[in-house]
Amino acid sequence: MTQLTKNKGLLTLTLAACSAAVFAQNKYPSTPPEVSPMPMKPEMTEIWNPEVAVVTPGKTPSDPPSDAIILFDGKNLDQWVSAKNGGPAPWKIVNNDHIEVVPGSGDIKTKMKFGDCQLHIEFSAPDVVESAGQGRGNSGVFFQDRYELQVLDSYQNRTYRNGQAGSIYKDHAPLVNAMRGPLEWNSYDVIYTAPRFKSNGTLDSPARITVLHNGVLIQNNTVINGLTLYIGLHHYPEAHGDDVIHLQDHGNKTQFRNIWLRKL
Ligand code: MG
Repeated sequence: MTQLTKNKGLLTLTLAACSAAVFAQNKYPSTPPEVSPMPMKPEMTEIWNPEVAVVTPGKTPSDPPSDAIILFDGKNLDQWVSAKNGGPAPWKIVNNDHIEVVPGSGDIKTKMKFGDCQLHIEFSAPDVVESAGQGRGNSGVFFQDRYELQVLDSYQNRTYRNGQAGSIYKDHAPLVNAMRGPLEWNSYDVIYTAPRFKSNGTLDSPARITVLHNGVLIQNNTVINGLTLYIGLHHYPEAHGDDVIHLQDHGNKTQFRNIWLRKL
């Protein structure tokens, strides 16, 4: 038996003893549980395996790291289809740089399905500022095809707070408005935790979301209270597993670029 294996065995035993002691007393004890008579050594609380995977980060935080799935890099919409009919994604690629919503063509969705993930996406309001409130630069990023992180031109554009850019639509307003002007690009960096369901189909734990808008925290491990409906109270009507991410056609020429995702 190697020293490492011995240590591991000892660690397991020690941790088991610790947990038993902890649960017997208090879930969150203010002092470490006494485990006697075995004296603790530093190695007993070191965990070596499995080794943490190496990921090469991008040069800037907006560049995809080595383990990211590239959903759009300016070249093509191969990772996307029309949400209406499953055919080719009907939005326009501009200058091999970004996509622009073609109003009336419908939403687009990923071919792949996802659960827990980290998503980076950049967006810009239409270059020509038209309309107001919900009519200006409206789109949205729907996680698991259901839960909308609102995309809107919220630069000097008042609307209901739980419907502005960075809101979980009609659920939670963003903590602040970090929106840039309509000729500039914005980024969302999202950490999304999918909801869990019990075997009988009822909700076990709701979805959660953390969002940085242009590097500013706007949703902090926020609980998503179900389908982000336009009308009515939000709820979880059915259990579901991994599902697509979709981007909304809300009739405005909103632009997107540099979309990548890491499965968690
Ligand atoms: Mg929207």
